[in-house]
Amino acid sequence: MPHHDHDSSLRHRLGRTLRTPIGITALTACLLVALVAVLGPVLLGDRAARIDTDAINQGSSAAHLLGTDQLGRDIAARVVVATRLTLRLTLLAAVIGVGGGLLLGVAPAVVGRRLGRLITATVGVLVAFPGLLFLLFLATIFGVGSTGAVLAVGLAMVPPMARLVQNLTASVAGSDYVAAARILGVGRFKMVVRHLLPNIAEPSVLFATQATGGILVAFSGLSFLGLGVQPPQYDWGRLLNEQLNRIFVNPAAALAPGAAVVLTGLMFGLAGEVLAQAGGRRAPQAPEPARGQQPNPSEEPATDGDGVLVRACDLRVTFPGGRQAVRGISLDIARGEAVGLVGESGSGKSLSALALADLVPHPGRVTAGTLRFDGHDLRDDPRLGTELAMVFQDPMASLNPALRVGRQLAEVAEVHLGASRAQGAARAVDRLRAVRIPAPERRARQRPHEYSGGMRQRAVIAMGLMGEPKLIIADEPTTALDVAVQEQVLDLLAEVREDSGAALLLISHDLAVVAQVCDRVLVMYAGRIVEDLPVTALLGGAAHPYTRALVGAVPTMTTDPGTELATIPGRPPEPGETGGGCPFAPRCERARERCHRTAPELSDFGPDRQVACWFPVGTAAAGGSVAATSYAAEATS
Ligand code: SF4
Repeated sequence: MPHHDHDSSLRHRLGRTLRTPIGITALTACLLVALVAVLGPVLLGDRAARIDTDAINQGSSAAHLLGTDQLGRDIAARVVVATRLTLRLTLLAAVIGVGGGLLLGVAPAVVGRRLGRLITATVGVLVAFPGLLFLLFLATIFGVGSTGAVLAVGLAMVPPMARLVQNLTASVAGSDYVAAARILGVGRFKMVVRHLLPNIAEPSVLFATQATGGILVAFSGLSFLGLGVQPPQYDWGRLLNEQLNRIFVNPAAALAPGAAVVLTGLMFGLAGEVLAQAGGRRAPQAPEPARGQQPNPSEEPATDGDGVLVRACDLRVTFPGGRQAVRGISLDIARGEAVGLVGESGSGKSLSALALADLVPHPGRVTAGTLRFDGHDLRDDPRLGTELAMVFQDPMASLNPALRVGRQLAEVAEVHLGASRAQGAARAVDRLRAVRIPAPERRARQRPHEYSGGMRQRAVIAMGLMGEPKLIIADEPTTALDVAVQEQVLDLLAEVREDSGAALLLISHDLAVVAQVCDRVLVMYAGRIVEDLPVTALLGGAAHPYTRALVGAVPTMTTDPGTELATIPGRPPEPGETGGGCPFAPRCERARERCHRTAPELSDFGPDRQVACWFPVGTAAAGGSVAATSYAAEATS
C-alpha cells in the first residue's frame, strides 16, 4: 500500500509525490511525450513525408540524424511524427479495455445472480486463455488494419481488467457500508458510482495505467507483424517493421522506434505508480445540490396536537408470503421525549424503527393506518436527513471508508438542505465540534478508518445533526463499543437531546441502557408492543410477564457473579408462527387456557401505562388463584 498522508488534500499529496524523483521523472516524461505528440506532426510532418530519391537508405548524418528509409524520408522525423498516431491508437485501445473491464467487472454486483455467475465464469475462461494467443485470435477476426488492431488489443485487455475489478468489487460489496447502503435503498447505479467505484479506484487506476504500457507494446507488436497500421500511415511498430531488415546497416533507424516504444511504456508504468501513490482513491464529486430546499423555519407544519411528534397506528411490515414481522403496532412519541424500544432479537423492534424512517429493506412492505411525523405523512414525505436522524449499531456501516468524514457530513447539508459546498464543509466541522471530536478541522479531513470506534459513532451522530433533527432513531448505538465508550456515547446522546430538543427512539436489547437514557419504554414481542410503561416502573413494576422476564435476565451490580442469570425459556415465535392465542403463552408461567385461545390487545393499565396480557403481574389473576405478586418471586419460588 503506498504511503498516504491523509492530512493533506489530494492536490497536496499529488504535489508531494510529484516532487519525489519518481514523480519528477514521470511528469517530465509525460509532458515530453505529450509535447512531441502535439507538435511533432506540425513541425516535422512535411520533413517526414518528403521523398528524396537522391538520399535513399542513407546512414546517420548531420542532415538525417537517424538516416533515411528506402524512399529517402528522414527516419528521425518519422519517429517523432509517429508519436501522435501511436499514442492515439494506444489510448483508444486502453479506453476499450478499461471500459469493457469495468463494465464486466462491476456487472456481477449489479445484475441478477444467474447472469452475474455467467459473466464471472466467462471472464474466468477468457483469463485462463493465453493472452498472446487471444490477442492474435482477435486480430485475425478483426482483420488487418488500425481499426482491427485497436479492437483486438482493447478487447484482449478486457478479461484481466474485468477479473481485477470483479475481485475488488467482491471485497467491497461484502462490506458493511455497502450492505447498509443497500438497506437504505440506494439504487444499483448509485451504489456502483458512490460506493463501489471510489473504493476500487486506486488499484484500478494503477492497473489501467500500467496496462496501457502493455497495450502500447502489444499494438506496436501487431503493427510490426504487419497486422496493425498500414502504409501510408505509420506508427512506431510499423517503422520498426520497415527498418528491421537494415538493422546491421543502420542500427539506429531500427532501434529508435523500438526505444520509443519501451520508454513510453515505462512512462505509463511510472505514471500509474505516481497516481497510486497520490491516492487514486478519490471521492467523486457530490451531485449538485438542489437549491432552494432550505426549510422555512416560519412555516410551522400542522401537528397532531398535544406535542405529538410521531404518530403511528396499525403499523405493519410484511414480507413475501404474508409473513408479518411487525404486526400492527401503534405508538406516539412526544416532542423531546426519549422512548426505548426493547425486546429480544427478532421481536420486530428494529424493523419498526426502520419503517418510521422509510428504510425497510426490500422486499419488506410497510403499511399503516396512520404514519405521521410532525404533522406530515411520512409515506409522502420522508424526513430522513433533515428532521430525522438514524444512528446504527456499527458506525462503519454509515460511513463510506473512501470518503473523508467531513465530506460525507457536508453532503447531507448539500443534498438535503441545499447548502453550498463551503457552507456544508463549515457546518460539518461545526457539528464534529458539537459532538466533541477534538481538532474537528483536521479530523474532518480524515477518513473513517483513522477514527476510533467511539469517535466514528460520534461522527455518525454529528451526521444526524447536519440537519435539524426532531427525532433521532438510534438502533443499538452502543452495542459495538466497549463499556467506557458506551457511556460517553450515551452521555452525548443525552446532551444532543438537551441542546436540540430532539426526541429519541432508542432501540436496545440492553435494559440498563434504556433505563439510563429513556423516559418511557415500549416492550415488543413477536412483532407487537406488549407493554408501554414509564421507565421508573420498568425495573420494579412491569406488568407483562415478558417484561418481567427480560428484567430478570439483566445482571445488576448486586448480582452474585456466581449465580446463573435468569433466562427466558423457549424461543420467540418466527413471523408467521403466531397462532390465535397470546404469542408469549408457550413461554409464560402465568399462561392459562384463555391465553392459548385468544390474543390479548394492548389496553390501558393505570393512567400512563398499557399492557397486552390477560393476567398482568400486579393484578389478581382471573380465578383469583394467582396472587398479585412479582413474577421474579414466582419464578424463584
Ligand atoms: S396473556 Fe397469558 S400467556 Fe400471555 S403473557 Fe399474559 S399471562 Fe402470559
